[in-house]
Amino acid sequence: MLSVQAAEAIILNLVNSRASNQVEIVALEEANGRILAQPVTGKLDIPHWDNSAMDGYAVRYQDVQNCSAEKPVTLEIVSEITAGARPQAEIQPGQAARIFTGAMLPLGTDTIVMQENTQRQGDRVLILQPPELQEFVRHQGAFYQAGTPLLAAGIKIGAAEIAVLATAQCTQLSVYRRPQVAILSTGDELVTPEQTLQPGQIVDSNQYALASFVANNGGIPIKLGIIADRPAELKQAIAQALTSADLVLSTGGVSVGDYDYVERILTELGGTLHIRSVAVKPGKPLTIATFQDNNCLYFGIPGNPVSALVSCWRFVQPALKKLAGVNYQPRFVNATTRHDLRAGGSRETYLWGKLHLADGEYEFALAVGSYSSGNLINLAQTNALAIVPVGQKLIAAGDQVKVMLLD
Ligand code: AMP
Ligand code: MG
Repeated sequence: MLSVQAAEAIILNLVNSRASNQVEIVALEEANGRILAQPVTGKLDIPHWDNSAMDGYAVRYQDVQNCSAEKPVTLEIVSEITAGARPQAEIQPGQAARIFTGAMLPLGTDTIVMQENTQRQGDRVLILQPPELQEFVRHQGAFYQAGTPLLAAGIKIGAAEIAVLATAQCTQLSVYRRPQVAILSTGDELVTPEQTLQPGQIVDSNQYALASFVANNGGIPIKLGIIADRPAELKQAIAQALTSADLVLSTGGVSVGDYDYVERILTELGGTLHIRSVAVKPGKPLTIATFQDNNCLYFGIPGNPVSALVSCWRFVQPALKKLAGVNYQPRFVNATTRHDLRAGGSRETYLWGKLHLADGEYEFALAVGSYSSGNLINLAQTNALAIVPVGQKLIAAGDQVKVMLLD
């Protein structure tokens, strides 16, 4: 059996040689959640022109620098400039323009006096306190200069990046194509959530879990549904999945049971098996295959719902993210465990639960309820996996444990 680290290295190696990172152009409205494939350079300075950061008066600093409450300077108000308006006249010595936040500075002015430091008298204004030179002026290009790098390639586009791109009027973006991920569930016992359960049947939760996992990690899930434990059908379904996807995720059928056909079929289809099992709990029977005549990477994942998701988080996530154009490393922190963490000792063991900050220190608490890879109920609302290394059977409450973050 391979160690977790050895399996991880094999997977990264396989995916690095496959990640084609093809690019497509999307409109800004469709760019949320996508990964920028090329650096973006803007054509506009930001701010686009000198503008006021306050409601007040645009003045010539020289006119007002020596004023005070006792000896205010009186200026003639010759124009009013609202946000969005284009100033008409140049401001001469002894004059000021009424101005509002965001409005463009008129020629001749260099400083804004905030309204609170003035007193209005008809078409005149008294300046009661001297401003700093250029106070409350947002200068053209102060935040960004046209032609310089705006956003780097490889970043994920979210609300803030959308705001930046919209401001810079970048409406067409080059992003990485999202990997197509075929998902199939194997097992005679499986039915969809809509079907009425007959005795002995169980609901195919993996299909749904994996589809949301794929979508959350930048892939496009292609749900191929439930495939019965019949070699011919399974072979046909797998062959079809291989032609339609960058990555195939199947669950079930990879153990040593009489009806576990996946490995055999992968071999029959000309696949090379790179991994057949990993010294990890849950998730030992992980099967990874590649094929000579296409670029697809195949992950055969155990059927137990908890094993399936833990395998996805630990092994599929870095591969999927890489295919989506993101260089991702699982994130680990050290935490104090609130509960005893038990393991068999022969496999690296992942225990699911909650990580939180207590007085600035990470603390890990096991999920409540029965701990079994068959029980998916207490997986809900977990955010971390605590790791008991090979060779250890107990990490006692109060001790330090390495914890993998789930996001
Ligand atoms: P297998 O890996 O096929 O031996 O399945 C192991 C266990 O996981 C069995 O109890 C299955 O019923 C269960 N299981 C397999 N596939 C799924 C699935 N798609 N959704 C939920 N449970 C499953
Ligand atoms: Mg099965």
